[in-house]
Amino acid sequence: MGSPHLASVSVDLDSLHHYCRIHGLPESLLDERVRGLVYGAAVPRFLALFREVGVTATFFAIGEDQALPGAGEGLRAAHAAGVEVASHSFAHDYALSRRAPAEQAADVQGSLDALEAAVGVRPVGFRAPGYALSPGLYQVLCDAGLAYDSSTFPAAPYYAAKAAVMGGLALLGRPSRSVLDRPRVLAAPTLPYRPDPAEPYARGGGQVLELPVAVSPGLRVPFIGTLAVAAPWPVVRHVYGALRGSNHLNFELHAVDLLGSEDALPGPLLRQQRDLSIRWVEKRERLHQLFTWMRRDFDVVTLRDAAAQLAPTL
Ligand SMILES: [Zn+2]
Repeated sequence: MGSPHLASVSVDLDSLHHYCRIHGLPESLLDERVRGLVYGAAVPRFLALFREVGVTATFFAIGEDQALPGAGEGLRAAHAAGVEVASHSFAHDYALSRRAPAEQAADVQGSLDALEAAVGVRPVGFRAPGYALSPGLYQVLCDAGLAYDSSTFPAAPYYAAKAAVMGGLALLGRPSRSVLDRPRVLAAPTLPYRPDPAEPYARGGGQVLELPVAVSPGLRVPFIGTLAVAAPWPVVRHVYGALRGSNHLNFELHAVDLLGSEDALPGPLLRQQRDLSIRWVEKRERLHQLFTWMRRDFDVVTLRDAAAQLAPTL
């Protein structure tokens, strides 16, 4: 007997200095308060929302961010609340998939060490910076003994670009860049699969399962936090409806999806990242609704548990 209707909520905890790097803004723009907002404000907001709706989740945390003030406390509170802590690399290097194997291994191991030091449990899951996977990076994940990867983001470029404009979200500009590098991702499976180690965007017999980020069937509209908090609500409802029959709905968010105008972010960052100008309480209301639907329609589990349940069927 399988589990045909699993859903997972995951949040990439990219701190705001990574957004400065993406947008080419000086990190000096961020004072101490702003540097601490992801772990000090967004993380507790997500934890409160998960508790309120009664869902569990996975946080993808960046190794080097653990040196930020408040990061350790934030991650330990998440772990204590039953949230899975997985790796989003050590340095959030967008070129990680193209680096030499030794550099890739050092980054991945460094992130696992940093996160294990923070919460006392070694992560079993990984999401690559910019969602870009390569045979070399996939091999590193296998060598590290991970259970799953959740980097494949097989969105149609048109919708990725549209979402980027909608949210002003450069993180979505990156996948389209990686798409230009490796067009193979466009043909990648949209539901959990076992990758071919020689081409992780294709099916094969690899030991590390791939759990692709949700895109709608057919049109491959990305179903991610940016869409949920910034798109017209009927669009969100429609895309969710198209995904209701999935055997695994992998809903990916970013910590900034619960930051907003109340957080008084620096102007230059707001101009580049327009979704940060929406009030976070409004975003929270939308996510509350979505999580409630997911809880009604699916068995909501961490990505670690989804991988464990799906592994024998793939
Ligand atoms: Zn990221």
